[in-house]
Amino acid sequence: MSPTADAVARGWIELADRVFVRRYAFYDQNIGVVLGDGEALVIDTRSTYGQAREIVAHVHELTAFPVMVVVDTHGHFDHAFGNAIFRPATIWGQAGCVPFMERTGEARKAAIAADEPELADALAEVVVDPPDRTFDAAATIEVGGRPVGLHYLGRAHTDHDAAITVPGTGVVFGGDIVEQGNVPFYGDGYPLDWPATAEGLADLVAPADGILVPGHGDHAGRDFADAQATSITALANLARRVAAGELPLDEAIAAHPFPELPADHARGAFDRALRQLGGALD
Ligand SMILES: [Zn+2]
Repeated sequence: MSPTADAVARGWIELADRVFVRRYAFYDQNIGVVLGDGEALVIDTRSTYGQAREIVAHVHELTAFPVMVVVDTHGHFDHAFGNAIFRPATIWGQAGCVPFMERTGEARKAAIAADEPELADALAEVVVDPPDRTFDAAATIEVGGRPVGLHYLGRAHTDHDAAITVPGTGVVFGGDIVEQGNVPFYGDGYPLDWPATAEGLADLVAPADGILVPGHGDHAGRDFADAQATSITALANLARRVAAGELPLDEAIAAHPFPELPADHARGAFDRALRQLGGALD
């Protein structure tokens, strides 16, 4: 069995007291659940209503508590297009998540449907439903009297990535600031800001026994968080050398720090970094 298939088969994993993660084969994605007193909180809502309803059914395997709170780690379709299924729950996101979803949601539906025609019908019924509660730098919210921390650490995978902590448990949900078994997606990213944000995320993960749940792939510890930050920094530094005329772009692409990254994705990451270096993203 592949690591993903094995993780999917395990269903919910209790990472710490009443803090769960479940791995879905589609995009090898992680969905989090935090249980408080009589209420449940869900982290991310997947790509379609059908996928979101699958989360709801799976949450019912864990608890009879209603899902009263949702947190979107960011506004990408695979993290937030299931939002409407969880209403009337309160949906939280970083402040930039709302304009991002309003600006990109409809176009993203069309683009994904073109890329993945088997999703077209399911995407057509999605009403883009951005968070109704937002935070800027940090917030402490509650689920059934239990505190949950929301953190904005700077631009990274998007301009509004939220990290989520559950005090007293050592668990950090990092969204797509980091990915495990996959490579960071730079399409909406800020390659020059991302290193500091990734380091900030790593700092949230306790060195000995902290648990970092990436948006996709296996959960891991502080070492993984540090390694991702190092690779993200290395890519930014290669891009700076290209922009300074010290290194040909093709050599930078060949030297990029993510061995699994397909060459066209690597080129896209450098394109994005060079645009940011040229001032085109601010
Ligand atoms: Zn994403």
